[in-house]
Amino acid sequence: RATYHPGSGWEGGLEPYGPLQLDPSAQVLNYGQSVFEGMKAQRSAKGNIVVFRPDENAARMMAGAERLSMPPPPPELFLEAVLSTCRANAHYIPPQGKGSLYMRPLLLGTGSILGLGPAPSYSFVVYAAAVGAYFKTGQLTPIDLIVEERFHRAAPGGMGGTKAAGNYSPVLVVQLAAKQSGYADVVYLDAKTDTYLEEVSSCNIFVVKGNTIKTPPLAGTILPGVTRKSVIQLARQLGYEVQETNVAVTEAMEADEIFTTGTAVVVSAVGSLTHRGVRKQFGEAGQPTRTALRLYEALTALQQEKADDPFGWIVPVA
Ligand code: PMP
Repeated sequence: RATYHPGSGWEGGLEPYGPLQLDPSAQVLNYGQSVFEGMKAQRSAKGNIVVFRPDENAARMMAGAERLSMPPPPPELFLEAVLSTCRANAHYIPPQGKGSLYMRPLLLGTGSILGLGPAPSYSFVVYAAAVGAYFKTGQLTPIDLIVEERFHRAAPGGMGGTKAAGNYSPVLVVQLAAKQSGYADVVYLDAKTDTYLEEVSSCNIFVVKGNTIKTPPLAGTILPGVTRKSVIQLARQLGYEVQETNVAVTEAMEADEIFTTGTAVVVSAVGSLTHRGVRKQFGEAGQPTRTALRLYEALTALQQEKADDPFGWIVPVA
């Protein structure tokens, strides 16, 4: 944990996991000055502990900090905090292929303020927890999604392009309703026209037709996923034509395949998409579709050091 006070900059170090002490007037509790990150460390096939593209998470946190008027932790501090948290928790990292250590960097306006304004001081905290597959059905079982028709996740000019905590609380009621109806999650549509796919509550979305893969563009309303960016590159390398472009929900309902990407979900095939009571099934029940599986394998081979990393994406925890 590191704290920031104007004048003295960032100061801190490793400490045991435990509660944070906050004043009731802490900015984050009242006005929500908070951005976070999600990243994984895992044991690779070469026996290393590795982290995937942490510089991307650092850059995204910096951008979010700017949007929410917070002092960004310098990238070197971000990286050192993540790597030292990883080292200190290495004994919790599951065996190779059995899961990973999820790491959660938080940047919080912890200083007290009564009227609306930025916090006078900040905390940067990284905590960690061992995790398995994100969806309870397991990593390779396709997920059922429903198009959300009532609520939007983000509006143009809002915070949808940042990992602000405030983007996630409005999603809870939507996610719960979807789960109660038997869906793993929802797909949001754009707030302006209610026509185009945006993303899922915690992952980006891709639509495949023939050799073409489309994914919604980074127009400020969806999160610029690290996995999204990586999968676009891997798909191009595998010979797919990848387009970052608007995808109408009607187009998605006629696609060959849909899949989602994220640190938590990795690459997850979508088994069905339901829109206005119509359910479209993709592939064979219970089986991941072809492109999703190919990309899952390409990405995880790289992340687990089973394949060469020509991009410099893998950072070993020394
Ligand atoms: N969209 C949202 C809303 C998310 O919360 C996440 C998870 N961070 C993603 C997309 C995927 O991003 P990443 O690939 O960086 O995990």
